[in-house]
Amino acid sequence: MKFDQIMIRYGEMALKGKNRKLFEQRLQGNLMKKLSGYAGIKIKKTRDHMFVVLNGEDAHEIMQECQKVFGIQSLSFAIRTEKDEELIKEAALYAFNDAEDARTFKVSAKRTDKQFPVRSQDLNRIIGTHVLVNTEDVTVDVHHPDVELKVEVRQDAAYITSKNYPGAGGLPVGTTGKSLLLLSGGIDSPVAGYLTMKRGVQLEAIHFHSPPYTSDRARQKVMDLAQQMTEYGNDIKVHIIPFTKIQQKIHREMPEGYSMTIMRRMMLRISEEVAKEQEILSMTTGESLGQVASQTMESMSTINEVTNYPIIRPLVAMDKLDIINISREIGTYDISIRPYEDCCTVFVPKAPKTRPKREKANFYESNSDFTEDILEAVSEREIIELKAQSKPKQEFEDLF
Ligand code: ATP
Ligand code: MG
Repeated sequence: MKFDQIMIRYGEMALKGKNRKLFEQRLQGNLMKKLSGYAGIKIKKTRDHMFVVLNGEDAHEIMQECQKVFGIQSLSFAIRTEKDEELIKEAALYAFNDAEDARTFKVSAKRTDKQFPVRSQDLNRIIGTHVLVNTEDVTVDVHHPDVELKVEVRQDAAYITSKNYPGAGGLPVGTTGKSLLLLSGGIDSPVAGYLTMKRGVQLEAIHFHSPPYTSDRARQKVMDLAQQMTEYGNDIKVHIIPFTKIQQKIHREMPEGYSMTIMRRMMLRISEEVAKEQEILSMTTGESLGQVASQTMESMSTINEVTNYPIIRPLVAMDKLDIINISREIGTYDISIRPYEDCCTVFVPKAPKTRPKREKANFYESNSDFTEDILEAVSEREIIELKAQSKPKQEFEDLF
C-alpha cells in the first residue's frame, strides 16, 4: 500500500467566476512547472480540488515541493483503492501510521455511491476499530483529532486522505502582475521579494554592482539569493546594473552628507527605466522603517521623490527579528550572511544625513546631469534568466 496522490485545497477563495478560473489555471501551471523534473507526475482538477497524481514518485518529497507553491491552503496524501472493505481498511491504517506522532484520530466516511453495501456510519466504526486494533496508545478524538481520516466511496473508486499539511497560502504567482525587486545581498530584500510573490506577484530582480569595488563573489551571492527565491516563484529574470561610474560621479560631485540619498535616488530612477521597458508596473524594496539612515521617514520621502511608481515595501512595519525568522524559513538567511562588500557600504560616508531635505537633494543634483549616465547604465546592463529547478532528489544526488 502506498500513497498515490496528493490532494490540494485552495482556499483564499472568496474568488469567483472568471478570477477563480484564472487562479486555478495559474496554480495548475505553477505546480506543473515546479514538478516538471519528475517524469511521472500529473495534475488533475476536480470541481473543488486539485490532485497531484504521483505515478510512483516519492510522496513526501513531492509534498515538500508542493508546500512551497503559493495559492495552496492545505494538502493531504491520498490513496485511491477499489471499493473493497478490506482494501479501504488497509489504506486508512496506512494513512494513519504515516502521520508521525499522531496519537488521536477520527474517521469521516462518506458514501457517494449508494450501491456500496456498507453505510457511512458503519464504515466509520469498522475503519476506526481496524486502526485501534492495529496500533498502540492511540485513541479516538472526535473533536480535535491529530488526524482526520477521510474516506469517500465514489462511483469510480474509494478515496482515503490523511492529515492536513499546511500549504504556503497566498495567491498563485502570476495572478496579480509583476514587480521589479531591488535585490541587494542583505537579509531584507529577499524576504521582501518572498512576501510580494506570496501575494501572487511575478518578480524580476535588479541589482546594482560596482566592480572592482564589489567582487564577483558579492555578485554571485545575489545570484544565489535569486536562485533560492525561484523555489517559491517561477523563473526570475535578474538585471545586473553597472553602477561604478555613477557612484564615482556622486562621490566626486555631490556633498558627502547627501551621497547616500542621491545614490538611492539614482537606484530608483534606473529601476524605473528598466521597469518601464519590461512593462512592469511596480517596484519592491526591503526597506524597513527606522532600520538605518536611509530608512528614516525623511530619507524615504526624499528618496521616493524621484519616482511616482508604486513601491511595495512589505517589511516597512516589521521588526528585524521577524524578518530574520522568515529569511531562515525560506532558506535565504545563510546566503545573506555570507560576508561581502555592497556597493552602498563601499561609497557611503560614515555619517550620512538621517534627515536629508528634498530641496537640497534636488539642488545638488541639478548641478550635474545624471540622465545620460542613467541611460548608459540601463543599456549596459546584463540580463540573466534563472530557471526554477526542482529535480528529484535522487537525480540531484547522483550529480555529486
Ligand atoms: P537589505 O538587507 O535588503 O540589503 P538593508 O537593511 O541593508 O536591506 P539598505 O542597504 O538601506 O537596507 O537597502 C534598502 C533597500 O534598497 C534594500 O532592501 C534593497 O531593496 C535596495 N538595495 C540596496 N542596495 C541595493 C543594491 N546593491 N542593488 C539593488 N537593490 C539594493
Ligand atoms: Mg543592504
